[in-house]
Amino acid sequence: MRYISTRGNAPALSFEEVVLTGMASDGGLYVPEHIPEFSHDEIAAMAGLPYTEIAFRVMKPFVGGEIDDDTFRRLIDETYATFKHDAVVPLKQLSHNHYLLELFHGPTLAFKDVALQLLGRLLDHFLAKRDQKGVIMGATSGDTGSAAIEGCRHCDNLDIFILHPHERVSAVQRRQMTTVLADNVYNIAIEGNFDDAQAMVKASFADQGFLQGTQLIAVNSINWARIMAQIVYYVASAVALGAPHREVSFCVPSANFGNLFAGYMAKRMGLPVKQFVIATNANDILHRTITDNDFSKTELKPTLAPSMDIVVSSNFERLLFEAYGRNGKDVADLMGRFAQSPTSLHEAPLAELRKLFASHSVGDDTILEVIREAFEHTGELLDPHTATGYRAAQRARADEITPMITLATAHPAKFEDAVVKAGFEGAPLPENMHDLMAREERYDVLPAELKAVQAYVAEHRH
Ligand SMILES: *Cc1c(COP(=O)(O)O)cnc(C)c1O
Repeated sequence: MRYISTRGNAPALSFEEVVLTGMASDGGLYVPEHIPEFSHDEIAAMAGLPYTEIAFRVMKPFVGGEIDDDTFRRLIDETYATFKHDAVVPLKQLSHNHYLLELFHGPTLAFKDVALQLLGRLLDHFLAKRDQKGVIMGATSGDTGSAAIEGCRHCDNLDIFILHPHERVSAVQRRQMTTVLADNVYNIAIEGNFDDAQAMVKASFADQGFLQGTQLIAVNSINWARIMAQIVYYVASAVALGAPHREVSFCVPSANFGNLFAGYMAKRMGLPVKQFVIATNANDILHRTITDNDFSKTELKPTLAPSMDIVVSSNFERLLFEAYGRNGKDVADLMGRFAQSPTSLHEAPLAELRKLFASHSVGDDTILEVIREAFEHTGELLDPHTATGYRAAQRARADEITPMITLATAHPAKFEDAVVKAGFEGAPLPENMHDLMAREERYDVLPAELKAVQAYVAEHRH
């Protein structure tokens, strides 16, 4: 399988290369040159199989023979052995034809584990094969750094450095990162805010001289392997509810659109999906684009669902590439206009998208109302991100006949302040994490100075 850029002006890459590469050199994102398709019978044959077997079948075409089957199966088995539920991603019925797909049983209690547990192992595999070492650098405002750390803690060929703003991250979120004591994991608390941390990571990627030849690797949401790993749970859950014999719909709490783009890929691969509902918080660029054809940036609004606080939705470009008939030049033009000023999509591609996608935006007050209401009606305590999905599914679903699967993207204990604001006493951590607050922590505090951070990374990497 080869991978091409959404802007049509970067070299095509192999799977191995695309896993090790971030953005394409033309500013675009990599997508598979051809979308593999499953027959009706092939999808039917997945019913009842273990999650790991469905994962192998769904992802194999994207790997294109670059990892032998036994090795790939072993990587998948190791990946999902880190999940605490026997079904990996259990499906729960909430009400008539409304289901919750629980994606938060991984090590850091959020759906990003599904992809990052695999990505770490893929990177390690390819680096070992090349006899190379890699360095990962990332900045986090609290919720995503831990998933990257957990995904890399067992990797022999990777060192990971995660910057977080000192004393501006909740204790649970900090401890999910700093209690990982593996000797390839470095937590750096920056005396500054998240933007300072992110700016230093960006500057380090732009000029990697301080690493004297070692490759810097990004594990952010545009990495193709993350999308690939997320396709699997759409297939697994739809098949559990009767696909390919019955259509299903999905509602997805969305920010960078990586999760939802994976669902779209599942549909293109043959899964019978009737509708995708995009749920956003007050940072509603996706909602405004689909509903009003207003493709423009607005100021970042901090919300109770912080993992969905974005200004630009990076993976949406992958969907635009499909909507524009895979014309890289048109996508490059559109993204160029978007970078400058508010713009809009062409009518024909937008009309195509509206046949499949609906959207709904959910403000903070409604998030709290939904957490209370869902608990009262279903007994489920939802996290604030999942709450946006719950409401969007109710408001924007096309019909009541097609089963609606809302993706539960985080465990409520991870975002306890919203749960408390909604009037609950709290949300207990799951059994395997009950001692998180007592575990030993390790991190270093550094000033918000690029030179100091780069010297630290250069000195500590193996
Ligand atoms: C990252 C994240 C999202 C948004 O996912 P995207 O793939 O960026 O759309 C939603 N909920 C939670 C809890 C997340 O961590």
